[in-house]
Amino acid sequence: MMFDYHVHTPMCGHASGTMEEAVQSAVRKGFSEIGIADHLPLLYMDDPTLSMRPEDLPLYIDTVLGLKDRFQGQIEVRLGIEADYYPPTLGEVERMLDAHPFDYVIGSVHILGDWIFDDPREEERYEDIDIDEFYIAYLEAEKEMVATGLYDIVGHADLVKKFDRRASIDLTPHYRELLSEMKRMGVCFEVNTAGLRWPVGEIYPEPDFVRLAAEMGVPVTLGSDSHCPEDVGRDFDLALELLRASGYGEAANFKGRKIKLVPLA
Ligand code: ZN
Ligand code: FE
Ligand code: FE
Ligand code: ZN
Repeated sequence: MMFDYHVHTPMCGHASGTMEEAVQSAVRKGFSEIGIADHLPLLYMDDPTLSMRPEDLPLYIDTVLGLKDRFQGQIEVRLGIEADYYPPTLGEVERMLDAHPFDYVIGSVHILGDWIFDDPREEERYEDIDIDEFYIAYLEAEKEMVATGLYDIVGHADLVKKFDRRASIDLTPHYRELLSEMKRMGVCFEVNTAGLRWPVGEIYPEPDFVRLAAEMGVPVTLGSDSHCPEDVGRDFDLALELLRASGYGEAANFKGRKIKLVPLA
């Protein structure tokens, strides 16, 4: 029983291969489930290389639902979405999430203030900030995101380490606060293998976070954050190793926004 819940498609403007090829890739790898979770239209900027446009969303939904039907009996296809947390657009995000039959919503913080801090084109701005304050502000934003109740899964919970610029302080108290809020709201997080493909070279979130989450009883799910079919399920052997070493014996699946815990493969 293995599944990948964080799979992007060319509709976001920065991924390759077709949606069908991503599903086929998961079938070839013997996965029981694949969750397509492309970027929800970003409302804070109009950049076709960062997300689909709002008018494309119905086509996205129809295509995923079509694949769900077509692959029935071979693999379960789930309709997911990766929705940003950016306070000025919350109302509009909620409206889009309510309008479609999503199985789950990944919540991600990619922007703080006016800075898309995970965009390599904006990397030089790291030179001008206090890195510790930045980590704290990011974890605080994730906590606010969880409190909105709009999201099921915290995406790449320590994305701020992407370019290997690390905080110098102990983040444990901030992790604990975030995880308590997740527990209160019934929100899980993902072990996301994309960090292995960026300068940081490490799964999101870091082992300390995963161990604490296991200790606090916060459920976890799995995602590759693939932007091409070959990366579906990539490095999941390492993800499973991390989960087992941290004390997890089960992981979360979703259907119709309802969580279900299944034993780890
Ligand atoms: Zn992307
Ligand atoms: Fe993301
Ligand atoms: Fe993603
Ligand atoms: Zn992501």
